[in-house]
Amino acid sequence: MRFHAEAKRDRYDVVVVGAGVGGLTAAAILAHAGRSVLLVERHDRLGGYAHAFRRGRYLFDSAVHLVGGCEPGPFEGSGLIHQLLSILGVRDRCAFARIDPCYTAVYPGLSVEAPCDFDEFLRAYAEEFPSEQKALRQFLQECLNVRQEARRAAQLASAYDVMSSPDRFPTLLRYRRATLSNALDAHLASPRLKTALGSLWPYVGLPPSRASFLYYATMLMSYIADGAYYCRGSFQRFADALGEALTMRGGEVLLRSPVRRIRVERGRVTGIVLENGQRIDAPLVISNADALQTIEELVGEHAFPERYMAGLRSLKPSLSAFVTYLAADLPLPSAIRHHETFFFPSLDHDEAFRDSRAGAPSWLTITVPTLADPDLAPHGVHLLVLTTLAPHRVEGGWRADKERMTARMLGLAERYVGEDLGGRSRLIESGTPRTMERYTRNAEGAIYGWELSPAQVGPARPGPRTPVEGLRLVGHWTQPGGGIYGVVSSGIQTARGVLDAPGETAPWDAL
Ligand SMILES: Cc1cc2nc3c(=O)[nH]c(=O)nc-3n(C[C@H](O)[C@H](O)[C@H](O)COP(=O)(O)OP(=O)(O)OC[C@H]3O[C@@H](n4cnc5c(N)ncnc54)[C@H](O)[C@@H]3O)c2cc1C
Repeated sequence: MRFHAEAKRDRYDVVVVGAGVGGLTAAAILAHAGRSVLLVERHDRLGGYAHAFRRGRYLFDSAVHLVGGCEPGPFEGSGLIHQLLSILGVRDRCAFARIDPCYTAVYPGLSVEAPCDFDEFLRAYAEEFPSEQKALRQFLQECLNVRQEARRAAQLASAYDVMSSPDRFPTLLRYRRATLSNALDAHLASPRLKTALGSLWPYVGLPPSRASFLYYATMLMSYIADGAYYCRGSFQRFADALGEALTMRGGEVLLRSPVRRIRVERGRVTGIVLENGQRIDAPLVISNADALQTIEELVGEHAFPERYMAGLRSLKPSLSAFVTYLAADLPLPSAIRHHETFFFPSLDHDEAFRDSRAGAPSWLTITVPTLADPDLAPHGVHLLVLTTLAPHRVEGGWRADKERMTARMLGLAERYVGEDLGGRSRLIESGTPRTMERYTRNAEGAIYGWELSPAQVGPARPGPRTPVEGLRLVGHWTQPGGGIYGVVSSGIQTARGVLDAPGETAPWDAL
């Protein structure tokens, strides 16, 4: 790929602001459909939260650990990412390693492994909780129904089509206001089983009592029904493959180029201005940047109706994360055997969430990407990524608190795995919520855009269209929500909304 300091032309059909996975997906599809596309990114590489960084001979993913749907699967609509890369002609750029079990969750007196296969998952949990076998099957079937209906709903033009088709979307409509706890309580009796099935709550950033059941079920099924994957060579490869799909079709990428302003005249987008002063005309601008930043800083809120602004301001961002990156000498402690292990201090997820929100996390996940891809580090070394959720602000600021928090993460890890990981590490580095914000400009370092509560997912988020003609949104601040699977869906949805021509069929209609 060739990157330029200035756009080659002064006019494009479409400018995409931000090269997160949502922006990349939309840009690549639009270029594939024959539009002239300019993708502008302020960072020096593609991917947003999906970017990777090097420290000496170690290659770390900055954030992303696991993505569903990277290979064909057994269910309707399985393998979304595989299909997308295939249509764009870059499937061979990514080698995905299947992660099985997709996660392990360890509690005092309880440890569960989640096989990366629907029937195996059911069998594993039924073995641990035999008296609830039937109810468990019903609950998981309901999760699968959510996923299937959500895939079909994504192909519709608007949320109104879902609301007006109760026969086609009974599960989405039944659970649209349900939390994960509501759905678990409706099916299951055992508190331990309910806790175990909610183990993946950090992946939606809210505990079961507050997380949207629809979003949780879709995310869980994207792993256990579709398959969970790690991209060999880091998820940077996945972002780069989407970038290559764009440039292969004549699209252009500008890195290290913050967009200063999105120009709007008489209620219509007319183009952008780069930080270097270059003015570029375009009748369509798609923003992958934080939604409020797009509106308040890049356009100016005067261009938007008050009602739209009030709606946006009523939404709550998701929590951020604190991440500690380690390069540790072998062997791995015996408590860590798989790619992703969650360690919780008790069966109470609400308490764990409260601890994180207060800046005193009591739980963490330990990811070991070198189990799936040993080439990320030299022989004899494993990369370990310790992640917990954390608030945007702590007393005294993150700059002052980073060291204390890193020590806390190492202390937690040591307590859970019973070994001194810090002492065996050749490299220890941390990213705070402020780091997340600095690299992506996501407000408050939010990891999934708006919080994934029932009131803020799917059609309850701002749609890809905005009141300003020619301005669209893409990524985790718009529909359907956060996570790579979510923003790929968003990229497809936003591009499809631009391209929709009645009577015409296109390859991405199948996605
Ligand atoms: C610690 C952590 C762990 C995670 N783990 C996982 C996981 O394992 N699996 C998973 O599916 N999801 C995971 N997520 C969530 C997932 O990474 C995000 O939801 C997703 O990547 C967001 O993508 P996006 O398209 O919305 O764009 P973002 O990644 O938010 O990128 C936005 C881009 O826009 C650019 N930009 C902003 N303003 C401007 C401007 N003015 N001019 C030019 N460019 C601009 C930014 O530099 C950035 O590159 C994780 C997130 C975090 C933080």
